[in-house]
Amino acid sequence: GGDGGDGDDNQIVAGTAPGFRPFEMNEDGELVGFDVDHLEAVVDETDYELTSWEEFEFDTLIQALNNGNIDVIAAAMTINDERREQIAFTDPYYSADQSVLVQTGGGFQPSDLDDLAGRTVGAQSGTTGEGIIEDEVEDPDYRSYENYVYAVEELEQGRIEAIVIDQPVAESFEANREVEIAFTFETGEEYGLGVRQDADDLREALNEGIAAVQESGEYEEITRKWFDE
Ligand code: GLN
Repeated sequence: GGDGGDGDDNQIVAGTAPGFRPFEMNEDGELVGFDVDHLEAVVDETDYELTSWEEFEFDTLIQALNNGNIDVIAAAMTINDERREQIAFTDPYYSADQSVLVQTGGGFQPSDLDDLAGRTVGAQSGTTGEGIIEDEVEDPDYRSYENYVYAVEELEQGRIEAIVIDQPVAESFEANREVEIAFTFETGEEYGLGVRQDADDLREALNEGIAAVQESGEYEEITRKWFDE
């Protein structure tokens, strides 16, 4: 920037954290998923141009945004007050609850968070699932992972006893891996796109894009594509 041109200001870079099927994952070396299709559709409704996607560990996305490495986070990120101290969110675009995953046939069948007391429980670093383990499970032996994929591998091997994770992603792991949902509990989380706190124009444009994509029926199409496989 700084050259007085009027093209650069409207170019934006998106950041996400793959390994969170069906929202974002690598397939044959390509980044795909609900968030990818959704953000691209949303930006298409605006005067902005999405030039590239960058991949990060989930717990470094906010820093990458505030450093200026990216301009928008599209990573199934739950809107909450703690994050609002550091970034701004668009209007919500998806609602989710949390599930507890256990090893298929592993014998441990918890039915509520109390049953996780004292157990080895994993989550991805920086997630709301991690916050629930820290705040609502008594004396957990908490194991933090850079990515939920690693946590699921440990659970399949019986090296940890449970994982707390967003329900839609838990369903995907249940369908594809040797893990199963023990129970789901309501958190009423809502995902938003993250932008810098001073990016009012971008945030407003994205909000209009989110609404337009919902009204046009494109949102439903993208949902069907990634959730009814
Ligand atoms: N929705 C959860 C959160 O915001 C998990 C997101 C993720 O792991 N990509 O913490």
